[in-house]
Amino acid sequence: MEAKKQVIYLDNNATTQIDKKVLDAMMPFLTDAFANANSTHQFGVHAYEAVKTARIQVSELIGAAAHEIVFTSGSTEAINIAIKGVAENYLSKGKHIVTVATEHSAVLDTCQYLENKGFEVTYLSVKADGLIDLKELKSVFRADTILVSVMLANNETGVIQPIKEIAELAHNFGALFMSDATQAVGKIPVNVDELGIDLLCLSGHKLNASKGAGALFVRQRMNRVKIPALFHGGGHEKGMRSGTLNVPGIIALGAACSIAQKEMSKNAESIGALRNYLEIELLKIEGTAVNGNIENRLYNTSNILFRGADSDAIIMGLSNSDNDLPIIAVSNGSACTSASIEPSHVLIAMGLDEVAAFSSIRFSVGKFNTKKEMDVVINSVKDVVSTLRLMVS
Ligand code: PLP
Repeated sequence: MEAKKQVIYLDNNATTQIDKKVLDAMMPFLTDAFANANSTHQFGVHAYEAVKTARIQVSELIGAAAHEIVFTSGSTEAINIAIKGVAENYLSKGKHIVTVATEHSAVLDTCQYLENKGFEVTYLSVKADGLIDLKELKSVFRADTILVSVMLANNETGVIQPIKEIAELAHNFGALFMSDATQAVGKIPVNVDELGIDLLCLSGHKLNASKGAGALFVRQRMNRVKIPALFHGGGHEKGMRSGTLNVPGIIALGAACSIAQKEMSKNAESIGALRNYLEIELLKIEGTAVNGNIENRLYNTSNILFRGADSDAIIMGLSNSDNDLPIIAVSNGSACTSASIEPSHVLIAMGLDEVAAFSSIRFSVGKFNTKKEMDVVINSVKDVVSTLRLMVS
């Protein structure tokens, strides 16, 4: 890609641009203050103290206690530690796990791995709007159900599940409740006590921190959750995640959590206004519809179906480098598995057929986007979609 070409970045659910304030906070730990946080000399103690502050910053954003935070490389790792850990530690109770068909692959693939090891997994369906049916959930519990894992907000549609009710049901049936809150933390208020969450994962790069640092919340107050280590080594993170701490990444995560807490209501308003403006204008294009429940949804996400236009062709059309227009970065949920391209499993689970799933685009707005950018995107999408439709008619 040419360095000079302007980019309009509307793929903030994939990853976010690092906040300058976050970069400033982590920079000393990438340069002069490079000590190992476990070294006992004064240099190490400085890094240790900074990690301690970051742990508090992360815990405060989700209403947890600092000692309930385990730093990881991101959400995928946190999910693996949590689900495999519960599976191993609660074996005497049972081998049944409940999750949802629209979860991120980090959850689905971990569950599939456990199925291969003899666990039984129930994959709840979702309604056309992406929400689960609580009656269905109620009907699947068994005496040997050890864990319910339901994401807070969906990465493709932004749909927010009724987490408090789900957690209550899980607890009533004696199961633990875990939530993949990767897309929600930093955007909307998340309080693990109010929601009844036992295990939660979050990821720095989704909230304007750097890549490679995230956290797992493991409840230690009230109904303490015990999980064994996935990695064995120096006994870091109370033995739950051995390995030298990624001090700069952790400092960035802590700073980003603290900034998100301060900016949350302002961001909700400004990002929400941009997303709504974009969505209203795009829906004026004929043959369009929003995928997912529009009331229970993240304010930054809009997943739109453009009938008669292939989503990969739309993405390519918007990121054309042969003209003077900015490159527009958006995404679809299709995934490449070996040689074939699969439609989004989220949209398929919501009842869209393959053609519709292959004609849907996710726009995810972030705090650095502007109204001017939305106008460029609206015009470009209109042009690209009408050109594509003419080509197939
Ligand atoms: N869960 C959700 C909902 C996500 O959106 C993502 C990232 O795409 C992940 C988990 C994985 O996060 P990470 O990139 O931190 O491993």
